[in-house]
Amino acid sequence: MIKKALIKNIAEELEIDICRITDGSDLKKYREILKERKRSGLWPQPFTESNIDRLSKPSLHFKGLKSIIVIAINYNNSDKTNKYLSTYLSQKDYHIYLREVMEKMVAKIKAEINQDFKAKIFVDAAPFLEKALAERAGVGFIAKNSLLINPDFGSYIFLGEIFTDLEIEKDEALDLDCGECTLCLEHCEGDALTAPYQLEADKCIAYLTQKKGIIPPAERKKMGAHIWGCDSCQLICPYNKAKPINTKEELQYFDKDIEYFLKLRRKDPPEELKTTAIYWRGSRILIRNALIAAANLEKKEYFDLIKAKLADNSSLIRYYAAWSLSEIDYDKALGILKKHLAKETNEKVRAEIKRIILKHD
Ligand code: SF4
Repeated sequence: MIKKALIKNIAEELEIDICRITDGSDLKKYREILKERKRSGLWPQPFTESNIDRLSKPSLHFKGLKSIIVIAINYNNSDKTNKYLSTYLSQKDYHIYLREVMEKMVAKIKAEINQDFKAKIFVDAAPFLEKALAERAGVGFIAKNSLLINPDFGSYIFLGEIFTDLEIEKDEALDLDCGECTLCLEHCEGDALTAPYQLEADKCIAYLTQKKGIIPPAERKKMGAHIWGCDSCQLICPYNKAKPINTKEELQYFDKDIEYFLKLRRKDPPEELKTTAIYWRGSRILIRNALIAAANLEKKEYFDLIKAKLADNSSLIRYYAAWSLSEIDYDKALGILKKHLAKETNEKVRAEIKRIILKHD
């Protein structure tokens, strides 16, 4: 049995903020919670695995699983965060950063114990209940906003896991919870927290900013200024007040505003954008979200920039450019859209422009 202190010392050397250990047993408590949610029609949610066994039996993902090392890295950039991009958006994609740190960790453990062992690294895309594992390991507790909260760092933490066949002394879960507090439920901008611990993902603004295709008008309005993600349930949470600010160079905030995204050239995106965790969705969705934010904020100074988007070869962008112009300055947009309609070939864009024109006639 490997002493957990040895693992934690290595984590500290690598500037990992939290490191806890759990075993590879099934997540029984959470399995029952998922079954109950399924019966009530509240699960599965978008972007989630729907197989309860795969989610709640970590051993299905690693043959000979004995221990799971759960790490957490502080990403608190809330002192610099703007209204457009969530605070977790760092300059280097955190998936890559955490994977590199955990690879170093595995190598250091091997050198320290002078023994080879099997290990598999997971970051975010894991098909198991990552927060439940982290809770069992004592990294934090699952809060009413469905995020994991650590008493020292709040919910501003990235999680990663190392599955291994090494037997390591395990940690205990924390004895902490939200108490009587319901602030996040009252302040959720998307009304997505419909009950404690119950996040209806398709209402969540963070989800809407990642959703593909056409977003209905009511949801567009709900997105407000958000181009990527939403932090309202984190910003209001008392556990996040006065927490240490992230000092890691790679994880500094990707501080870009609406103009940056409106000016993105889809065929030639900047290198700095390609290294972030939002690039996977593609620049088309980011431009769409910027067009929605510009409309919601009535950004008249970007009218001409948006007008130029009517010539974009993406029908999705032309669709939102038309809508955005009409929201920013309806009277000015009307003539431009009528003229554009004569040459627009996409049926969805045509229908949207006709709908806008009809509001006037
Ligand atoms: Fe829990 Fe209150 Fe924080 Fe929501 S705001 S996660 S209820 S402590």
